[in-house]
Amino acid sequence: MQPLSDRQQQILELLQTRQRISTEEIRAHFDISPATASRDIHALVLAGLAVKASLGVKLAPPGEQSSQEKKCFYCNGTIKERTVFIIQMEDGSQRSACCCHCGLLALEQAGVNTALACDFLYGRMINARQAAYVLGSTVNLCCEPSVLSFDSEEEARRFQLGFGGDVYTMEPAIQKLKDLMRL
Ligand SMILES: [Zn+2]
Ligand SMILES: [Zn+2]
Repeated sequence: MQPLSDRQQQILELLQTRQRISTEEIRAHFDISPATASRDIHALVLAGLAVKASLGVKLAPPGEQSSQEKKCFYCNGTIKERTVFIIQMEDGSQRSACCCHCGLLALEQAGVNTALACDFLYGRMINARQAAYVLGSTVNLCCEPSVLSFDSEEEARRFQLGFGGDVYTMEPAIQKLKDLMRL
């Protein structure tokens, strides 16, 4: 994981006085592109210092990283059993994300051991690295763009026939999602 840049440090200081700041405000304040502002926010979230908010970022609530936390550690949204994504850290702790969207974006953080995604069809937890992902289908249960996980590519393709989107393995899914989110 990269250390925070000077600008990311300054954004964090702004957050400490204001609690919440939008991507547009960060962009205007530092005179940077929207994509750069989004990447700075992503870096702060991965460092566990902030959480995603609908239009920007807010300060991470104290105690956010505890294992019994019921909120998504990436966006602070409510975790639903149907879409939960669980990241096992090397130190034995666990971080839960609300859905594959946040889970995949969060996999870049340091110290990740394994990850489990919830199979969309059967509700079982499956190895996130071996899952097939459908991005951008019309079924949106949590964060946009929608990312759903399936036990096999065949099942993902069958789902895609009815509900659209594109099928990916894990690494390409992360790359595509980052492109879409301009990270
Ligand atoms: Zn989330
Ligand atoms: Zn979500």
